[in-house]
Amino acid sequence: METTSEILHRVWGYDAFRSGQETVINAAMAGKDSLVLMPTGGGKSICYQVPGIAMDGLCLVISPLIALMKDQIDRLQQKHIPSACLFSGMDRRVQETIMDSAVNGLYKFLYVSPERLKSERFLDRLKYLKISLVAVDEAHCISQWGHDFRPAYGEIGELKYLLPDVPFMALTATATLQVQQDIIDCLHLKAPQVQVNSYVRDNLSYSVFKLEGKKEKLVSIIKGAAGTGLVYVRSRRKTVELAQFLKTQGIKAGAYHAGMDASQRTQMQNDWMKGYVQVMVATNAFGMGIDKGDVRFVVHVDLPDDLESYYQEAGRAGRDGKKAYAVLLYENSDVLNLTERIESSIPEADLIRKVYHFLGNYFQLAVGSGKDENFPLNLDAFATYCKLNAFDIAKTFRWLERMEYLQFNGALFETSRVQVRVSYHDLYEFQLKNELCDPIIKWLLRQFGGELYNNMIFIHEDKIATAIHTGKSEVIRLLQYMHKAGVIYYAQALDQPSVTYLQPRQETETLFVDELFLEQRKKLLLQKVQTVVHYVSSQSRCRSAQLVEYFGEHNAAVCGICDHCLEHKKKGVRITDQDVLDCLLVEPLSIDSLLVKLPQSGEQELLEILRLLEDKGLVAREGLNWKLK
Ligand code: ADP
Ligand code: MG
Repeated sequence: METTSEILHRVWGYDAFRSGQETVINAAMAGKDSLVLMPTGGGKSICYQVPGIAMDGLCLVISPLIALMKDQIDRLQQKHIPSACLFSGMDRRVQETIMDSAVNGLYKFLYVSPERLKSERFLDRLKYLKISLVAVDEAHCISQWGHDFRPAYGEIGELKYLLPDVPFMALTATATLQVQQDIIDCLHLKAPQVQVNSYVRDNLSYSVFKLEGKKEKLVSIIKGAAGTGLVYVRSRRKTVELAQFLKTQGIKAGAYHAGMDASQRTQMQNDWMKGYVQVMVATNAFGMGIDKGDVRFVVHVDLPDDLESYYQEAGRAGRDGKKAYAVLLYENSDVLNLTERIESSIPEADLIRKVYHFLGNYFQLAVGSGKDENFPLNLDAFATYCKLNAFDIAKTFRWLERMEYLQFNGALFETSRVQVRVSYHDLYEFQLKNELCDPIIKWLLRQFGGELYNNMIFIHEDKIATAIHTGKSEVIRLLQYMHKAGVIYYAQALDQPSVTYLQPRQETETLFVDELFLEQRKKLLLQKVQTVVHYVSSQSRCRSAQLVEYFGEHNAAVCGICDHCLEHKKKGVRITDQDVLDCLLVEPLSIDSLLVKLPQSGEQELLEILRLLEDKGLVAREGLNWKLK
């Protein structure tokens, strides 16, 4: 039998596993549950994809974001690994076909969005599937304490009961200790193999500047760092303004935000990937699934909502292992603004009901109907219709989504899809009779082969147009023609966002809005803001050590390259064992507090002294604190 290393080599062309990968792969193959914590870009997909290929049967992957799913399917299909995905808003017939194919054992991987696990049809078929492994990607979404809680993830816990003998693998990049425990509990993982990779990024220098005049500082950072970079800002408007400003300073900058249409976004992304644009000024919509090694700096011009997002976004710098910079610029008023923004991001229950009501009317949907139906939505037009402010409307969407009434799909139809619906023979017949369609069919078959029959394939009409020397509109026309003839299924990309009803339209008066949940979320989000404030205002600790401690890594070595470490090196002062013991005599203290009490000390030095004292049996660690023994 092919070994897992052989699979890694044959399918991906990689020579060796990265740290931790083999351990969890072996656990899965031995039928064990596991929890995998690896920073973004650490290689989590391989952890379930290798055993998924090695084991007999189907690997079921639960993933919250349609865009991420599509990306994974694309990659697997390129490697000729049969795979498919299911999410609400997809044509029901297509979903049926895919489930049939899954039951017939045609796929190695089936990606599903969590709310599919509620669908009776899906659960009915589940017993006919031969499932080898269940992978739960972005597993932190199951935790109320996570920064991205999604109620639909709760269903996965039920799935564990339905599949008691199937190993589950939960994967995430961002989970505090509390969230890790929550994942294990909610998914009912049995004695899981827990693999936590270090969050330390040796080549990344973190720094924070508190100052007025961020723009000027930004220019000097960009000019100093050279190479490609990313600048994160809060608002769409700001991406455009700041990019414009950078251009006036002679810097090749571009703007990116979710409000731009898909082709503009793709263009921007490509220009930046290829280096035509040096600096991308973006909202946090940018970056997901983007794999660019040589990003030399990531600058945040506005405060991030939480350290999870900060670590993730800053971590896009220096993937190639070469020195890179993560810089955060802030001024006093930012803290207040962020707090206010978070507070006002939680809508009143009344507003949620109101928007829900108007949406139903707007789509002319009768109460009790609409389940699984999908409607294109132009936010501005809708705002005019219901005479509400678009921003207020948008903020209720998240909650309507979390309460599982609706799903908003910015990117649902971002990419067009095709699948052949007739036999090989019938397609050939059709080709003979419809000469005009011949080049497209030939091209599709050459590109995707048999996959076209088994899978929804994502296509770009302009790529086909170039390949067969015709116009994009002609390609679309022909694909539509073939769709009408029943030869292929063709779903054309829509730039427009859309809404899917996850449940039939409810009576507005009785629509249940979980106000306690809203209140709790507000509290939690504000706590997370405090951790960001602590990070930026802390004068006494290594930035890297602070960040990784947040993810549960205690006593990490200081990085030596962040602003704090550099400053400390310059000062070069020392403390003694006795200083430390004196402090601990009063009360047990965390590293954080010790550094505040001993401002002349450096973290490295303090850690060394603590370890020495620990060896001598004089002090001991208790949770985050150190105490006298
Ligand atoms: P994550 O999901 O943890 O953010 P991915 O699974 O997307 O990360 O992997 C990030 C990148 O690292 C991908 O390009 C992947 O192919 C690559 N990678 C993963 N494992 C290995 C390995 N063992 N050797 C080389 N590259 C790897
Ligand atoms: Mg991933």
